[in-house]
Amino acid sequence: MPRHNPYAFATRTAESFVKDELNITALGIDPISIAKQHDILVEAMDDCEDGVSGMLIHAYGKFAIAYATHIKSEGFQNFSVAHELGHYFLPGHIDAVLPPGTSCHQSRAGFVSDDRYEQEADHFAAGLLMPSFLFKPVMVRLGESLDAAQELAALCGTSLTATAIRLQELTDEAVAVIQCSTNRIEFCCMSERMLALRPRRWPKKGDRVPPGTGASYLMADPERVLASERKSRETDGMTWFGGLEDVELFEESIGLGRFGRTLTILTTVDDLADELEDDDCDDGWNRRSR
Ligand SMILES: [Zn+2]
Repeated sequence: MPRHNPYAFATRTAESFVKDELNITALGIDPISIAKQHDILVEAMDDCEDGVSGMLIHAYGKFAIAYATHIKSEGFQNFSVAHELGHYFLPGHIDAVLPPGTSCHQSRAGFVSDDRYEQEADHFAAGLLMPSFLFKPVMVRLGESLDAAQELAALCGTSLTATAIRLQELTDEAVAVIQCSTNRIEFCCMSERMLALRPRRWPKKGDRVPPGTGASYLMADPERVLASERKSRETDGMTWFGGLEDVELFEESIGLGRFGRTLTILTTVDDLADELEDDDCDDGWNRRSR
């Protein structure tokens, strides 16, 4: 049984919108042109408050989207615009984020906010740019490696982080995705199949990055992160999960350039058929630690 994701409806809303209303049949979905089709003005912002990814503005009876450009990544900017479209299209959002008397909502997109409306808009953005009916067939062909995530990110016009999160959501394989910043874990999300292996510990937000890992090596020198250096190794589950010592894992880490973080993808080396128990893991864990 898949674990309940309270925000799945937002992703599904975007997917049906792409499929049934926009009739889009290929990846590379352009959120700016979707906004324009709906008479929403879209503008780049030169500078904005720290951490703000974009804004939804309502003035003189018209809607506009402004998106941040301090992170020079097309993927980040596309996701920021798609997030604002989430506020525009999801039921109840306009009333919630633009209550009477306000004309501007500031967003923090990219799965960094715990706010319900921000989370819903992020899930909408993921479904809009990476709808499962287009994403999954390509993912099945490319696999779950870091190379595959990079190729999918290029196809979707999305950031590597957003793409890797989507990949672990949709894959049938055992995959964990971990983002770290200044030697601390920011989040770890695991696929259903990885959870079914029952890792002993969930790497949590704020935990120290374990020594000896690729992420720890890259973080030791900011130049490595800036240069998008990569580090790969074979390991077992002990380092990240304090268990699964019998499961051989392949760990691939990369510096995320000016974003200043590292992204790690863990996959299993061997077929897992024997490792999995018949019953699903049902300990109430959500798929993602924050
Ligand atoms: Zn927002």
